[in-house]
Amino acid sequence: MDISVVIPLYNEDESLPELHAWIDRVMVANNFSYEIIFVNDGSTDRSWDVIRELASKSQHVKGIKFRRNYGKSPALYCGFKAAQGDVVITMDADLQDSPDEIPGLYHMIMDEHYDLVSGYKQKRHDPLSKTIPTKLFNATARKVSGIKNLHDFNCGLKAYRRDVVKNIEVFGEMHRFIPYLAKNAGFDKIGEKVVHHQKRQYGKSKFMGWNRFVNGYLDLMTLWFLGTFGKKPMHVFGFLGTLVFMIGFISAFIIGAEKLWALYCHIPMRLVTDSPFFYIALTMMMIGTQLFLAGFLGDLISRNSAGRNDYQIEEEIKIEQA
Ligand code: UDP
Ligand code: MG
Repeated sequence: MDISVVIPLYNEDESLPELHAWIDRVMVANNFSYEIIFVNDGSTDRSWDVIRELASKSQHVKGIKFRRNYGKSPALYCGFKAAQGDVVITMDADLQDSPDEIPGLYHMIMDEHYDLVSGYKQKRHDPLSKTIPTKLFNATARKVSGIKNLHDFNCGLKAYRRDVVKNIEVFGEMHRFIPYLAKNAGFDKIGEKVVHHQKRQYGKSKFMGWNRFVNGYLDLMTLWFLGTFGKKPMHVFGFLGTLVFMIGFISAFIIGAEKLWALYCHIPMRLVTDSPFFYIALTMMMIGTQLFLAGFLGDLISRNSAGRNDYQIEEEIKIEQA
């Protein structure tokens, strides 16, 4: 099969028939063999009925229905698990992404050998309250992830080589960072394609408000940490712990030296609690120890985690698992 289109959706019943017809048209015109996987993320409207109806008329339509609303990332995760096409294309269900981009994306993966191609909504038809934070956010994501050529990490329209979606695990709200997840897994040929974007015709946006922005940054930090120290937490906590503890230790040493000096010169000694170094020594040594403990705990947890020996193996020759 050439293409799997994975579509996560939450309350988008009005768009679905139009979207389906449009994708069908593009696929037939280009002679692709394909499947469309609708992942209904706990919609409370008629979305699932619509999907059932579409599936009854077309053998290309497949559907997954969540019992409740889990979020876009879990929906993508399950869609990825089910996908069988050589190229997997994700798009939003709200008709903001154009199915006309599918052939171009497909060829970038198959002929130009990209692992992942992300859409770039250069001309975006969303309110300013969405676009400005997004600009800032993308600039940070470019810096942290080191993927310098992407302008639009969170674009719903993306294409993947099948290997990519089978080897990354989208979780929480990490759909914003799939290119970064892919890069951490070793898929580093990541490209971008300028795509058309339209105003939302039906329903309303499911991602609004400032918390979306803050959560995005927090997730980015987690990803950075996992990618850099995920398999060796002691390296970061141990280093910080040593540093902080040393500051405390030196402070304590200064207090001792002060005492000896006073003794030697016969000047009256001041109380240790009168010295700022006392407080520095106290807090720093305590924090340093805590950091060390966090490192040990981190190592303990990562050593016992199920994924501790998950590595990306690209190819094997004559290896048989004993
Ligand atoms: N979506 C989803 N689960 C959710 C929220 C959103 O599957 O909990 C889907 C939604 O139906 C749409 C896509 O994710 O197909 C993108 O959402 P939306 O268009 O609301 O985001 P925006 O374009 O405003 O950023
Ligand atoms: Mg949208």
